[in-house]
Amino acid sequence: MAQEHATKVHKYFPQALPQSLVVEGAADLLHHRFTKESGDPGDILFASSICPDEINRDIEESTWCHGLGRPFTMGGLAGFPFSGKVGFGAYMAHVPDGGVLLIISASHVGIHSTEDKIGLIRRVGMHKDSHACGSAIAALEYCEKNVADIAEIAAGTKLPLDVSDLLNAQQNYVTQKVAQNYEAITGHGEKMVGLADTLAKVVEKDVNRILPENIPFPLAILSGVQINFEGETFSDDYFNPLSFKIIEKGQTHDLMPELLQYAGEHHGGHHDRKKEHKNKDKEEKQKKDKEKKDKHKKDKEKKEKETKK
Ligand SMILES: [Zn+2]
Repeated sequence: MAQEHATKVHKYFPQALPQSLVVEGAADLLHHRFTKESGDPGDILFASSICPDEINRDIEESTWCHGLGRPFTMGGLAGFPFSGKVGFGAYMAHVPDGGVLLIISASHVGIHSTEDKIGLIRRVGMHKDSHACGSAIAALEYCEKNVADIAEIAAGTKLPLDVSDLLNAQQNYVTQKVAQNYEAITGHGEKMVGLADTLAKVVEKDVNRILPENIPFPLAILSGVQINFEGETFSDDYFNPLSFKIIEKGQTHDLMPELLQYAGEHHGGHHDRKKEHKNKDKEEKQKKDKEKKDKHKKDKEKKEKETKK
């Protein structure tokens, strides 16, 4: 299945990598870059700006596995950081002393597990397909239907939902952003790829817009497209990394070459290392079981001796 998924993904996103490998690489590079004097890996606080769709949560299992802890979730529909400047400002106060903050910012797109379809997936327990990202696709469909008014949609004077109801704010915002980038999206040969890649860049721009001018700790931003497969294990999703950078003392450094190098070096071994972990777990469990059995045996013998006395 893994090879089948890779072939499907690479048809649309030739540079995409297993999502768990990208997370592992980003975590590894930051852990090393900020190694403490004690030799322990540096502390990383993790925030995400990704769509709330449940199929996107697999990334959090990966981040958990690689010591990134619980995320601060900034993302609303289509991944835009709707928690905004105030939300981010509050989160800034949570960064551990001497630690680094990693933001993973992404759009997402589903790839069908059994058919050759992009933007559509078959969710668990359903007999029909549904959109992913539903918010982004709804926004694009509205723009396509009202293409004569695209300038008004982009300006926010013609929007799909009642603007007086603030509960519509997120979807109206996504629609406006799609309209503002309509040419880049529809100019791509594969519209769903154009939508996902363009929105990933627009979401990252917004993430940068909510950052304060002076950031008192190193801040890394990994940006790209989450590529979802449904109904499989968490390690099956892919990620198309578009940029990985770090802002340190006002200077921005490009970490993308290091991330791609890491991925190249560990791609083959990635799954083997997982297996290694599994085998290690198994060995440890067997060892513990044996210890338990031995203890049980000893206790039993002790009791028997005592009753004989
Ligand atoms: Zn979505």
